[in-house]
Amino acid sequence: MLPEKNKKCPECNDHLNYKDEKFCIHYSCDNCGFETLEWNQEGCCNDPILKPRKFYASDEGYFIDKNNYRIFNQCQNCGKKVGTALKRTDYQDAPFFDQKLEGKGLSERINVKNLANEIEARRKNRSRNNFEQDYQEYLKSDRWKKIREIVFERDHYMCQSCLSEKATEVHHTQGHFRFNEPLFSLVSVCSDCHRKITEMEQSVKRREMDLIKYKFDKEQNKHLS
Ligand SMILES: [Zn+2]
Ligand SMILES: [Zn+2]
Ligand SMILES: [Zn+2]
Repeated sequence: MLPEKNKKCPECNDHLNYKDEKFCIHYSCDNCGFETLEWNQEGCCNDPILKPRKFYASDEGYFIDKNNYRIFNQCQNCGKKVGTALKRTDYQDAPFFDQKLEGKGLSERINVKNLANEIEARRKNRSRNNFEQDYQEYLKSDRWKKIREIVFERDHYMCQSCLSEKATEVHHTQGHFRFNEPLFSLVSVCSDCHRKITEMEQSVKRREMDLIKYKFDKEQNKHLS
């Protein structure tokens, strides 16, 4: 598989850089951070060197019949068995397949899987950052200013947490409604209460994460014992 040199970023239409990762091409955008891996369909590498090799018909190690083999192409670059069986009589003199090469190819493939995981983690991070950026913009919008005013008015400009201070901020009780808030999900608060509520929410989230981790560890241990 050859890299596409004039590939454009699907997110910002800028020019994409490419890097040959042996089994795939790693495209990345300097402008917006978009990344993707493109794989060879056959699952072989980007530079296949195919040679006919003898493969045992049975790969159950305890019963190898030296005469019971079939001929396949083995890629001499990545070790992969490629395609369908070739005619046995045409390749009587072919050597047996290279097991070491196959093992090396397998571990290189795992490295590519790790790379794919790293790219996915970076993508999630990017979309989180984009969300936060959009949200900060939204908080400056006229729409949000109007909503804030309506909520303050509804709550008589009083903090609905302590009912003693004047409200100066609007709190999202349900974060998932951000950008599209039903008014019942918003509440007027003073800055002191807002800070405390946010701290409480964060500690609840941490406890939930601890609980998930605890359950997960317990499950894991069950399998180990
Ligand atoms: Zn881009
Ligand atoms: Zn290959
Ligand atoms: Zn308050």
